[in-house]
Amino acid sequence: MRDKKGHFDIMIIGAGVVGCAIARELSKYKLDVAVLEKEDDVGWGTSCRNTGVVHAGFGVPPGSLRAKLCVEGNINFEKLCQTIDVPYKKIGKLTVAKEEKEIEGIKKLEKQGKKNRVKDLVIIGEQELNKMEPNIRGVAALYSPNSAITVPYLLTIALAENAYKNGVQFLLNTEVVNIEKNSYSPDFEIITKKGKFYANYIINSAGLYADQIANMVGIKKYQIYPCRGEYYILDKNASGIVNHLIYPAPQEETGGWGTHISPTIDGNILIGPSAEYIKEKFNFPKIFIFHNIKLFFCSNSIEFESEYNRNFEKADTPMVFNSST
Ligand SMILES: Cc1cc2nc3c(=O)[nH]c(=O)nc-3n(C[C@H](O)[C@H](O)[C@H](O)COP(=O)(O)OP(=O)(O)OC[C@H]3O[C@@H](n4cnc5c(N)ncnc54)[C@H](O)[C@@H]3O)c2cc1C
Repeated sequence: MRDKKGHFDIMIIGAGVVGCAIARELSKYKLDVAVLEKEDDVGWGTSCRNTGVVHAGFGVPPGSLRAKLCVEGNINFEKLCQTIDVPYKKIGKLTVAKEEKEIEGIKKLEKQGKKNRVKDLVIIGEQELNKMEPNIRGVAALYSPNSAITVPYLLTIALAENAYKNGVQFLLNTEVVNIEKNSYSPDFEIITKKGKFYANYIINSAGLYADQIANMVGIKKYQIYPCRGEYYILDKNASGIVNHLIYPAPQEETGGWGTHISPTIDGNILIGPSAEYIKEKFNFPKIFIFHNIKLFFCSNSIEFESEYNRNFEKADTPMVFNSST
């Protein structure tokens, strides 16, 4: 079987951060490994379109695999970034309670974090918050010094390059359209737009399309509900307005993380994301109105238009930022 053309021990489907990290890890072993990716390059999915936060692990349910991996990942991330030469900055995160009634929410997060064994979490009062972040208003905050930032696309590319150097094959522009498994063969037959491949094992890291890949081998229990998010990106001259990742206290009515303020490694500030459930998985519209941002804990020194029309034909549409008022 091993001599069959296009045969691999392990075939990874999807070259996002997950597929590339798995490829790098497997490249440490004597295995024939390949990655199939439908796009022109690695990381064209969610992996290069996110906030770049290395979470500490207090926001995920205790006892879950996600909590375990998030906490372990946070501890090991700095070393990984050093090894593969990816920027990393431990800037810390403040989850801000704007009013007294929100303090309970950040206390719950602290408790959850401690259950998950997140280190060094502490609740700080208004004065301390004001010292750390003069532009942010709040009565208390959960401070997580181990939350960090990285550059998501550089991370994905570096993982892929390291795996490639170690012998993993990357087959780009190669969309998987079906998978077959015959009882007479131990191999999976993977049918792509560029021909057939064979593998003893398949790893499904197809991100938004992972449910479709699972379906191809008869696993019907997963369904992905795509959710689109948009950010404001502030100009670099605004880079000093916050020093930490700034998140709102948990919002019962919205769920999720809420709109947060995130410094990037490059010195911009991201504000967002919004959250909009959509039907199609790959839907980046030319014109999209990003509105109803609730920057309820920001100081008066930051003003935004309530609606910012992201229309590439009107690229000059100004977003009001005034640091002097
Ligand atoms: C707005 C937003 C902000 C986020 N911020 C953060 C953050 O700050 N920190 C954090 O840790 N996480 C964050 N996340 C989550 C994080 O981005 C994702 O968990 C992660 O990128 C998922 O990576 P992935 O490799 O599983 O998926 P993807 O990056 O989507 O990769 C899947 C790959 O599979 C390929 N593929 C799909 N179908 C096929 C097929 N049939 N054949 C071949 N290839 C295929 C795709 O083209 C794609 O390249 C955020 C997510 C969003 C949406």
